[in-house]
Amino acid sequence: MAAGYTMTIDGKSVKGSKSTGVINPATGKIFAEVPDCSKAELDQAMNAAQKAFPAWSKDINARRKVLNECAAALQQPPEGLARTLTLEQGKPLDKAAQEIMLTSMWCAFTAMLDLPAEVLMDTPDSKIEIKRKPLGVVAAITPWNYPIMLGMWKIAPALLAGNTIVLKPSPYTPITTLMLGEILKDIVPPGVLNVVSGGDELGSWMTSHPIPRKISFTGSVETGKRVAAAAAPDLKRVTLELGGNDAAIILADVDPAVVAPKIFWGAFENSGQICSAIKRVYVPEQMYNALLDNLGEIAKGVKVGDGLEAGTQLGPINNKMQFERVTELVEDAKKHGAKIVTGGSRVGKEGYFFAPTIVGNISDGVRLVDEEQFGPALPIIPYKDVDDAVRRANSTHFGLSGSVWSNDSARGTEVASQLECGSAWVNQHLAIAPNLPFGGAKWSGIGVENGTWGLMGFTEIQVVNSVKLS
Ligand code: NAD
Repeated sequence: MAAGYTMTIDGKSVKGSKSTGVINPATGKIFAEVPDCSKAELDQAMNAAQKAFPAWSKDINARRKVLNECAAALQQPPEGLARTLTLEQGKPLDKAAQEIMLTSMWCAFTAMLDLPAEVLMDTPDSKIEIKRKPLGVVAAITPWNYPIMLGMWKIAPALLAGNTIVLKPSPYTPITTLMLGEILKDIVPPGVLNVVSGGDELGSWMTSHPIPRKISFTGSVETGKRVAAAAAPDLKRVTLELGGNDAAIILADVDPAVVAPKIFWGAFENSGQICSAIKRVYVPEQMYNALLDNLGEIAKGVKVGDGLEAGTQLGPINNKMQFERVTELVEDAKKHGAKIVTGGSRVGKEGYFFAPTIVGNISDGVRLVDEEQFGPALPIIPYKDVDDAVRRANSTHFGLSGSVWSNDSARGTEVASQLECGSAWVNQHLAIAPNLPFGGAKWSGIGVENGTWGLMGFTEIQVVNSVKLS
């Protein structure tokens, strides 16, 4: 079957010499074909990006104007973009539309940022300036949970800083990113933004390609380590946004009925497929049963279904591999004596639907607690002493984010500050915004995205230090 979508290479729509299928997770069946980028086509994209760099890197105001036009184009997205996101990713249609709106908003916000030279000294005899210079070509690689928005997290800052980019979405969700390339193709000069699609192998060709000077990667810890290793021989710069195993610690002063819905949606939004979703909950022993009951009731009332059906709150898990992984972790928890408060198995016979699952009678040392489930299954763990809960929350290689819940915000903040993670939230979770740096401690990543801090990650520092010839 020929690909129905096209890559964007050097400002042109490219069908590619080969194609590969994309599965709708609600049916488990292929519904579209996309190009499977060859090595020669990747070379074309890299060469185009390299050729476009000198002109593009000259004028930040011109770049800002282009990014504002990109944001405006996405404010009126073409008919079918949200529907396609639901078809390839699984999320409910209203959430797909929201992701596209956020993509536009992120682009518009980033376009407002600036990288002025810092003047440290300016006298008649000497001048010292600290400048931020673009790196060159950026190779950008994204995962399947928020494909179009996470693509923009890389496109907008990379381009504003003066770089050019070759972007590869996940093979599970390539279509909306390819469509993004098509939408922006006539706004961005040829070669500045290239979008290619293909499998994991395409990702490794990109990270070992001689042209890119920077790799901006979002995905799993395992792949992130491979990316870092591939970047090392050429000393390419890397930003790695990797997995998490976020703990939520509930303090004894809260009402379980009040926190339960907030905890539930902090864990189950996008069917749990968020890097910084709540992935384990530590709760005081005396509140344990009440919280389990509250969470169980919420889970039972949630509508799981095809994202295109009206009223669906949670769609399927995105792909078979992830569906099997979540199933395996829940089965393993059962074997270790866990109590499935609600859910615990697939829903229906078709597609990758899994019931929102609340798991009790479980503790650290069981895989569902220790590993990143990245799906709709949440372990609830009792604790006696807050210091012990903090120690357990921190005793992991992960360090993306975490939250503490308390009626006493000052106490909550004090406990949250002890968490070893990039974002420590109090009485909220998933508080991610375009003006705040987002990144992981420990194995959850290197560098940050978003805000001026994220923008700086797409630059090299240069000291320009001049004195008068005497
Ligand atoms: P993944 O690591 O399997 O794949 C991510 C991307 O890397 C895909 O585009 C894939 O094709 C590509 N890839 C695979 N092998 C590669 C290689 N050897 N070299 C270069 N690229 C390669 O991750 P996934 O399953 O798509 O996404 C889920 C993971 O992403 C979870 O761990 C989640 O926590 C993490 N994630 C992190 C963030 C964050 O900002 N920290 C955001 C979203 C998702």
